[in-house]
Amino acid sequence: MHEMSLCESVLQVLENEAKRQHFSQVKAVWLEIGAMSGVEIEAMRFCFDVIVRNTLADGATLEIIEIPAQAWCLDCAQTVAIQQRYDACPHCGSYQLQVTQGDEMRIKELEVT
Ligand SMILES: [Zn+2]
Repeated sequence: MHEMSLCESVLQVLENEAKRQHFSQVKAVWLEIGAMSGVEIEAMRFCFDVIVRNTLADGATLEIIEIPAQAWCLDCAQTVAIQQRYDACPHCGSYQLQVTQGDEMRIKELEVT
């Protein structure tokens, strides 16, 4: 389950930020998860609760923002919604698509005390 190691890296970021910004507790974390990132949201929630136990983020709320997958179609010259990588353009059927969002995972915001 790679969500476990993802949560560990999230915690690492939180600890680094705590040192840098001098806060001692994290109350909430907003995490953006792309539709194609392969991250399972339920697994992420479960792992997060386990990983942050007895850390500066113990009891913190995990808010997940799902980012839809989008690509730029070279033939249509516009942004189109896709379900997964290597999908055809839903408008013209072209495979000349460049994924522009949906495969990322990042921390968007923190609430700290
Ligand atoms: Zn197209």
